[in-house]
This record gives sequence, structure tokens and C-alpha cells, in this order.
Amino acid sequence: MSPSELPFEQASIRVDELVHLLDDYSHQYYVLDKPTIPDEEYDRLYKELVELEEAYPQLIQNHSPTQRIGGALLEGFEKVSHDTPMLSLDNAFSREDLAEFDRRVSQLVDGEYSYHCELKIDGLAVSLKYEKGRLVYAVTRGDGTVGENVTANVKTIRSIPLKLKKPLTLEARGEIYMPKTSFLKLNEQREERGEAVFANPRNAAAGTIRNLDPQVTASRNLNIFLYALANVADRPASTQDEALKLLDDIGLRTNSERQVYDSIEEVWSFVEDYQQKRTELPYEIDGIVIKVNELSKQEQAGYTVKAPKWAIAYKFPAEEARTVIRSIEWSVGRTGVVTPTAIMDPVQLAGTTVRRASLHNIDLMIEKDIRLGDTALVRKAGDIIPEVVRVDKEMRSGESEAYVFPENCPACGSELTHLEEEVALRCMNPKCSAQAKERLSHFVSRNAMNIDGLGERVVSQLYENQLIRDVADLYYLTKDPLLKLEKIGDKSADNMLSAINKSRKNSLERLLFGLGIRHVGAKAARLLAEEFESMETLKQASVEEIIEIDGIGDTIAESIRSFFDLEEVEELLDKLNQAQVNMLYTGKKKEEQAAADTYFTDKTVVITGKLSHFKRTELKNKLNDMGAKVTGSVSKNTDYLIAGEDAGSKLAKARELGITVIDEAKVLEEIE
Ligand code: NAD
Repeated sequence: MSPSELPFEQASIRVDELVHLLDDYSHQYYVLDKPTIPDEEYDRLYKELVELEEAYPQLIQNHSPTQRIGGALLEGFEKVSHDTPMLSLDNAFSREDLAEFDRRVSQLVDGEYSYHCELKIDGLAVSLKYEKGRLVYAVTRGDGTVGENVTANVKTIRSIPLKLKKPLTLEARGEIYMPKTSFLKLNEQREERGEAVFANPRNAAAGTIRNLDPQVTASRNLNIFLYALANVADRPASTQDEALKLLDDIGLRTNSERQVYDSIEEVWSFVEDYQQKRTELPYEIDGIVIKVNELSKQEQAGYTVKAPKWAIAYKFPAEEARTVIRSIEWSVGRTGVVTPTAIMDPVQLAGTTVRRASLHNIDLMIEKDIRLGDTALVRKAGDIIPEVVRVDKEMRSGESEAYVFPENCPACGSELTHLEEEVALRCMNPKCSAQAKERLSHFVSRNAMNIDGLGERVVSQLYENQLIRDVADLYYLTKDPLLKLEKIGDKSADNMLSAINKSRKNSLERLLFGLGIRHVGAKAARLLAEEFESMETLKQASVEEIIEIDGIGDTIAESIRSFFDLEEVEELLDKLNQAQVNMLYTGKKKEEQAAADTYFTDKTVVITGKLSHFKRTELKNKLNDMGAKVTGSVSKNTDYLIAGEDAGSKLAKARELGITVIDEAKVLEEIE
């Protein structure tokens, strides 16, 4: 029975139930930035409520989510009223819904009109207010009427100009988002630290912009696309298309993936096109926004309480698949965090075969009640890492039993701890073999000491054969014992030793990062090395001296201090010192560094496909100038693939290897 056929009594009960449920979900989503159900499920319940309210308008409650925008506001930020409300968008889920939208528009406006198609960026809406060309306010959408003043955080986003190219007074509205690569990196770090991961880039962006510490925001690489112009004098544009061009002209960043069409059929081909391309974009989109292009016709069409009648958001269906969980693998990270991965029957998902999916941590497993043999709904979060959304409890057989969590470390057997303040299980044994191997692998990795020829397999072999126990042992290796190892010949032993030898001269930041001090990432390591210039000075520094560095907070400083206070660290550093491993900063001084560093510094880049902005050699030279190494073929050592039009096998390979794919627009942005 469809919702509209429900008798009044039952409909009334269901409406109450839905309002209550959706309210709860919205609070989790908008206020806490922690959704508890997938968006598609929320959308399905919301649609059911709309249908019931349409059938029985007397059941519409004032506080129904269909009558409200967004959620409550967070404490801690100043509240600011919007001069004109920041609305939501109505949704379309099919080609028929779009045709229906077109029919409605044709009844509301006179004469001919066209459609402006834009990508629906999955982030959070903000309004930037400029007075005489100066940024004065950045405010979140909030409940549509009142938002939160997040100016200090927004100012950390480098693509947002503090001064426009023209001294205009206006409001520009747009979407702040977190690029896919930054999202992945952030979640990796959080997982490693035993912190809860963000469900998707949208929540990560929202959580970051509404963080009370601008330093945290600054460290997370957010970006923005502006998509609307509001409250500007003398109406400088007559179409949405012109409004976006004006935004471009005054220095505000817009998305170039947009198009004007005369018919809804052409709009549909744009939708289908981007449904294919969405996985290649460096940011997450959840649909296409279709707007009447002519601003005068927009006014004619008007608004509902919640959304404009001249626009609609087509939402892409989620890429999900069902499969069966066969086993759960537990792996130990370098800091002892033990993470679960579901091993499943292979299933096709967003163009790849998926066998493994992250279960993130024990708390989430308990919450979702995940069991062996369960039929699971898997999804690629942001089309990136597959994850188990939920399991189908109705498909369980009578024999199904709750999953028994491991009590002992899968590597060293010592008892695991579930610390109260953490969502993860942890192996606390400092001598755990899995942790030791992870630490060694981290030490030799590319962003750390960059020692070629020492992959995970070799590290494990060296460890198992007791040739190395800690990172300093690498510098005491000799050739003979290496030759006794399986698959290591004369040449590879020589290469290995020469790579190790070469790494002795590395600048301090590589060693600092390689030591795997908790919370010290590559960036923090560089800041520390630039500031203190030698291991010895850093070792003597107090927490107060360390936090003086811009970009280093209490947590990092305290972690560094307690690291150097450990006796075994003192011994390790002595051992490294005696092996003549460099402990000085040999890089450029801070000022030179700031000028020289780019997105491409030290990156290996491959170019493929037809380029429209650059000649290939011209781009190659530019990339070289920015510190990149341009190579011809994609391998696991590639950092970025720049893909132009009609990219073929290289693009496929890059995707398979999980390499970041960027387009020319991104390159242009970085050059700028
Ligand atoms: P929305 O995200 O569906 O659409 C409106 C928003 O789209 C705008 O406010 C703007 O931020 C954004 N947008 C992105 N690109 C744009 C462009 N080019 N032009 C104009 N706007 C653009 O609406 P909403 O009110 O922000 O959120 C409702 C949605 O949130 C629901 O459909 C649901 O999927 C999700 N939600 C999920 C939960 C949950 O528990 N999972 C709870 C509440 C809401």
C-alpha cells in the first residue's frame, strides 16, 4: 500500500513517528555532523512523510522537517541572521521526476526559458559577505534564517579572497568541501589514533568548519565553490550563467563543470554524463543541481517555505551492493590500534570488484551488530573506500551468533585493551612484532626515509630472520646475511644497502617523521625541523617552546616531549647517531620553503588524455618547475595522474592502484 492510501488514523500515527525519527536523524546529521543512517534511507523516509502530508494536509506539523531547513545551531559560535534566507533544494530521483519538474516550471513562468546545470557539491553551504570588496562575514546556512559565524575558520581556506578584485558589496553563496584525498588522509590518521572516523567528506567538512579551533580547520585542506550571488546592488547579471562569470571575474572560485541547456532532455544527458564521471572528480558530488537560468524567470517561479520552485537537485542513486561476510581480519597498526576488515564474497561495486570492506573499529561493529555469515550492504564511501553500511538482520539463519571479538593481539598474542576514551582495540605491547614491522615499514616509506627496495615483504623477512629489531638496525646491515634470504640476490642486496646508505644523509624532517612519534605527521615534522634545525635542540625543547610554532598544538607538543623522555628513545637515537645518520635540517630555510613549496613538490606525475589548456610539453615544463617528476607510465610510485579527455588505459590503471586522478582545472588552480 502506498503511503497516501493509508487510512487517516494510521497515517496520523505514522506522521508522528516519521517527524520524530527524521528530527532525530537531522540532529545527528546537521548538529553533530555524525549521521546514523545513510542519506538514501533518510530521503526514503522523508519522501514517505511528504506523500502522507500531501494526502492529509491537516497532519502537517509546524516543526515537520518538510517545513524546516537544516537543523539547530551549535553552541559556541555567534549567531548571525541572513539578509535573505538560505534555502534547501527539492529533490528528484528519476528522469520522470525531472520531467515533472519541467512541467511545473513551464506552468509557473511565461515564455521561453533555459536550464543551468551544476554539480551538486557534497559539502556544507556558507554565505560570504563582502563590503566594498572586503570579506566581513562567513556564515553557515544553519536553520536557513540564522547561521553560525565561522569567519575565523573560513579565512583559513586559501582560495577564499579576503579582498575581491572589485570593491563590491555583495553576498556570495557556495559550498565548502573536503577533497577526496584529504578526507582519506584525515580518516587514516584518525583511525591510527583510535579516534572515530568521519562518515563521508561532507561530514568531515562540516565538522572541520564548525571546529572551535581555526588551527584544526587550517590543517585540513578545505576548499570552496561559489554558486550564487545575493544581495548585490544594480543587478549586475541577468542569468545564473552571467552571475557565475561575474563571481569568476571578481576572484571567487566557481566550478567550471557547468552548462546551459534549452531542454530537460539535454539536462538528462548532462546528469547521465556526470553520473559516469563522478568517481574521477577530486571532490565528492551527490547529484546535479538544475536551475532556471534567467533570473527574472526565477523570480516569477517563486519559492516554497523551504526551497526555490525554479531549481531542483537530482540525487544520484548510491552505489551499493549486497554480499556475504565470510570472515573478519584484524590487523595491527604501528601504534598498536587493531582494525577489523570484513572479507566478503566478491561483488561488483562502482566499477571494481570488492572483496574487502572496512569495519573501522570495534564500537561500530557492536553498534551495527555485525556477524559472520551476515548479508551486508556495502558501499564505497565517497566512492573511495568500501565500507559495510549495515547488515540485513532478517536474512540471518537461526544459528547466527553474536561475533566474538578477539581478546588477544593477532600478532603477538598479548591481551588487547579497549580504552574507555577510544573507539578501537589496542595492543599495548611495545615489543609486538606486528607493530615493530609496521614501524619499520613506516620508517622506510616514501614520505619518511624513502629507502627504495624495502617493501613490506622484505621488511618482514628481515624482521623474521632477526636481522633487524628496530629502525637503527637497518644501518648495521651487511651483505652476507642478506644473501641468505629468499629471493634476495647479489644485485638487490647491493641496491638495498646503497639505498640505506643514501638515506643517512636525509634532512632531519624525514627522520623525525620516520620515527613515528604519535601525532607527528610529515607536515608537523617539517615545521619542527625548520624551526629547531637539529634533533639535539628539539630534544631539549620544552612543550611551551614547541607550541610556539604556528601549526603545532598542545597534543603534538606533549607527545614529542614524552617521546624524548623515554629511555629507549635515547638509546635508539644514540644508535642512529653512531651509524652516522644525519640529525640536522638541510632543507631550505623557512622563508625560502614557503615560496618554493607547491602541490607538486617531490611528486611523481603522469599525464594522459587530450589536454585543452596546455600543450603537453608546456605542462611538463610547468610541472618540473613546480618540483614534480613527470614520467610516462603509471605505477604504484605515481602520485598523481593528470587526465585530459578520452583518457584510456592509464586512467584505468591509476584507478585500480588507487592513485589520485586530477584534471586540468585542478592543475590550473595549483599553478595559480
Ligand atoms: P540538499 O543537500 O539535498 O540540497 C541543498 C544544498 O545543496 C544547498 O544548501 C547547498 O548546500 C548544496 N549545493 C551543493 N551544490 C550546489 C549548487 N551547485 N547549487 C546550489 N546548492 C548546492 O539539502 P539539505 O537541506 O542540505 O540536506 C538534505 C539532505 O541531507 C537530505 O536529502 C539527506 O540526504 C541529507 N540528510 C541526511 C541525514 C542522515 O541522517 N543521513 C539527516 C538529514 C539530512
